[in-house]
Amino acid sequence: MSSPERNSVPLAARWLPLRQRVAATVYLTLLLALLFGVGAVWMAQMTRSQTDELVRLADASNAVRGFRTNVDRMQFAAYRFVAANHGSAVAQVSRLYSATRDSLTDCLVTRCVDASAEGRIEALLEGLDRFYKAFTDAVAQRSVLNSIIDQRFTPNLVFVRQELPTLVQPESPGAQADSARALDALNLRAIQRHLLAVEEATDALLYSANLQPYSSLAIDFECERGHLARLSPSVPEASVAAIRTALEQMERVWGALLQRARGYLFLVNVVMAADAHEMQVIAGQLEQQIETALVDAHRGTDSKLFGFASALILLLLFGSLAVFALGRAMATSVTHQLRALTQTFNDLAAGSRAQIRIQSPHNDEIGELAMAAARFRDANAEIHDLLARYQALNEALESKVAERTSALEESNRQLERLAHTDRLTGVLNRRALEQLLEDEVKRSQRYSRPLSLMYLDLDHFKEINDRHGHEVGDVVLVRLARELGAMLRAHDRLGRWGGEEFLILCSETTGEDARSLAERIRVQVEQLQLESVGQVTLSIGIASLAPTQTVERLLAEADQAMYRAKSLGRNRCVLA
Ligand code: GH3
Ligand code: MG
Ligand code: MG
Repeated sequence: MSSPERNSVPLAARWLPLRQRVAATVYLTLLLALLFGVGAVWMAQMTRSQTDELVRLADASNAVRGFRTNVDRMQFAAYRFVAANHGSAVAQVSRLYSATRDSLTDCLVTRCVDASAEGRIEALLEGLDRFYKAFTDAVAQRSVLNSIIDQRFTPNLVFVRQELPTLVQPESPGAQADSARALDALNLRAIQRHLLAVEEATDALLYSANLQPYSSLAIDFECERGHLARLSPSVPEASVAAIRTALEQMERVWGALLQRARGYLFLVNVVMAADAHEMQVIAGQLEQQIETALVDAHRGTDSKLFGFASALILLLLFGSLAVFALGRAMATSVTHQLRALTQTFNDLAAGSRAQIRIQSPHNDEIGELAMAAARFRDANAEIHDLLARYQALNEALESKVAERTSALEESNRQLERLAHTDRLTGVLNRRALEQLLEDEVKRSQRYSRPLSLMYLDLDHFKEINDRHGHEVGDVVLVRLARELGAMLRAHDRLGRWGGEEFLILCSETTGEDARSLAERIRVQVEQLQLESVGQVTLSIGIASLAPTQTVERLLAEADQAMYRAKSLGRNRCVLA
């Protein structure tokens, strides 16, 4: 009951009362769950912001890749425009320019890249603008060329096509004149052919941007002059002058076109190509930078996620351990005290009166139980004292009752004995003899066993009384009873029938055997010498039981046999 470990109060029980211990366990568990939940939410938030960053970088990467593709397309469209005056190329380049610029501006506005990348994007925007300006310059150049052709070249061509072949005069006389006219016609057609070739080459210049044919066309103009010089008088002077004028104008225009086309091609091939190249390089670097940032962001996200997941798992693990340890400590503190209480109550039930030693520093349920145990101990001690006193009383009472009972039983036995015993002689009395006779007669008749009865009467007993006094008569009777008892066999029963008359009941004995026994008794009594009285004799009547005979009848027969013995002279035995 007072072992040291049972009395030591668990730490948790020392700190907090029972209810607060349970509450503390629940609150701490909830707090840990809350911490875990907050951690999980924070992790989700962080994952989301990291994912946003990744998406932002991926968007930037896609925008740069789209930009490069657009620059390629723009360059191709610009080249097509320059090379073949492709009609839709202008609209296409404009559209691509706007789209590309917008997407780059978006990148800047939404800050999808860092500061160093922003610098590159600004450089890209500048390059893009330069490219587009060069392109619009090229478009303007081309329209200038077109207007030159329309305004200055075309009228001369009309002359060359329509009027030049009709310039030879038809009214020239003679064969010589005919051959000169034929030669003029040939020269005019040659001039026409050359000028048409110039027109064709000029078209080719405008539509193919190929400067190569122009060195050969310069020769054509020299040939024109030769043909013009060779024209005869059949060609009117005015016409020759017109041809010369047209020729000179075309040469001038052609020269101007050549100059412009050279600048135009330079613009296209050098400026735009350089810009495009620069843009590709910067975009390539930007893409590389974004890729690196993307990879870094991926790595950062992975490591953050890993770190945070590890932290959460550790939190969960240690939290679970803490909750388990706390729950266990709290449960142990409760069960420890409860066990101590149980032991205390068991000890109390076993009757211990030792001091209640359950320590509960708080007035909680356990403390109340301990106090109840103390009260119970006091009450129990009182009850035990009362019980002990009661038991002592009870034992005393019981021993007294036992004593009295045995005395009573002894009295009963004595009463019983007295009830069946003749007071004077100590042998069976008449009532016992009657009962014995009833029983023995029934038994013998049921089992068909022999039964004999002796009726003994002391001869002339009255005389003894008269002569020696009644007391001596009593002594004679006592002595006779003792002597008769000593003479009997185990199965024979002796009783005093009344006065100086005795009966002997001999079970399992025939009449003859009983007579022999009676004779032996008679002889032995006759031989007795009694103090102051001397010799006494007996008259004995013997009757043996017949199968249906009653007790009364048997008694009467024995009695009659005894009287016959008296009448035959006493001191003898008579069998009925
Ligand atoms: P009998 O030979 O014919 O039997 O003669 P008896 O004298 O023995 O017989 P009787 O019947 O005449 O007398 C019996 C006497 O026995 C009478 C009575 O006073 C006496 N007696 C009876 N009971 C007691 C007793 O308890 N004590 C004494 N001392 N005498 C008794
Ligand atoms: Mg008598
Ligand atoms: Mg007598």
